[in-house]
Amino acid sequence: MCPECGKHFNADTLQTFCADCKSPLEAQYDLNKASKTLTPESLSSRPRGIWRWTELLPVRGAAHRLTLGEGDTPLLSAPHLSRTLNLPSLYIKDEAPNPTASFKARGLVMAVARAVELGVTEFVIPTAGNAGSALAAYAARAHAKAHVFMPKDAPLANQREVQAYGADLVLVDGLISDAGKLAAEQAAKYGWFDVSTFKEPYRLEGKKTMGLELAEDFNWEVPDVIIYPTGGGTGLVGMWKAFAELETMGLIGSKRPRMVTVQAAGCAPVVRAMEQNAARAEFWQNAETIAAGLRVPGPFADRQILRALRESHGTAVAVTDKEITTAQNELAQNEGIFAAPEGAAALAALKHLLAIGWIKTAERVVLFNTGSGLKYL
Ligand SMILES: *Cc1c(COP(=O)(O)O)cnc(C)c1O
Ligand SMILES: [Zn+2]
Repeated sequence: MCPECGKHFNADTLQTFCADCKSPLEAQYDLNKASKTLTPESLSSRPRGIWRWTELLPVRGAAHRLTLGEGDTPLLSAPHLSRTLNLPSLYIKDEAPNPTASFKARGLVMAVARAVELGVTEFVIPTAGNAGSALAAYAARAHAKAHVFMPKDAPLANQREVQAYGADLVLVDGLISDAGKLAAEQAAKYGWFDVSTFKEPYRLEGKKTMGLELAEDFNWEVPDVIIYPTGGGTGLVGMWKAFAELETMGLIGSKRPRMVTVQAAGCAPVVRAMEQNAARAEFWQNAETIAAGLRVPGPFADRQILRALRESHGTAVAVTDKEITTAQNELAQNEGIFAAPEGAAALAALKHLLAIGWIKTAERVVLFNTGSGLKYL
């Protein structure tokens, strides 16, 4: 369904986005039916990984449940930070153990699995780095072809990784937005399926599993605050959707976490839109940051991101690259977590929010480390 105009689309055919509204689509399920078989008990008896949530996922046939072991990542305590920040209930959802070392695996496994189920054999993606790696891995696993368009200054590890999986790597002189234009052109020309962020509805469903897991991690409650490094916003919008579905199924109550977007000071279109109380995020000129995954100057799902932030009584925070680097060292040296700069940005934002009293000592706070620092060496 299109969240802007309410138009319905057929869930049994391959979908992209609502051309009328230029809006992403959101998959819908028979939640009443799902609640009969998806229960806390059945979930705990199923094999680990995102496919435990199959009633809430778009893939129909068991044979199409592609996997490299994604999901069910640890919710870690952060004892040193808890002490120094005076925040006893601080947790880090660590996404680095995912295949290809970032949470992009959750989204791309779903997009590849569902598209292959519907007959796709050739994919294209514009990427800051990690999404290209994840697409390349799952395409290899599914024996499909992948074309990856990446800015030429994207992390070298991602470039090599994409090629190692046998994908076609195209280096673009520009940003992810420029790569996106090229990818869309070639997709139209050759009939490739474009799995750009939010240009198809399946990645969102994969990313949604982070919210499902968190609810289970907190014993069918939700934390008070979730701090999420936001580029395209799939995870943020996905978790927000997950909580709504779980509530409809009677698995959680009506309480919601306050959702926090973290962006880099050099590319903060969502932060600016929140400050201006705008419904849309304006394109950010000359985007620049070491956090490659946050260098998204014009997120396609800006309306959904902003709605989730406002409905949750959340906020958006920009942090500098210097603060990111400091936070990265702190996480590594004090907690043993070598976070991606995007994940480190979440810690930098937490410090801002504690300083202004927006987060209180007794609150349960989850930081997302969205990937491994190793990818950026
Ligand atoms: C892509 C990416 C992000 C941004 O994720 P979105 O869900 O698109 O907002 C954050 N961190 C890392 C490591 C990424 O690769
Ligand atoms: Zn529409």
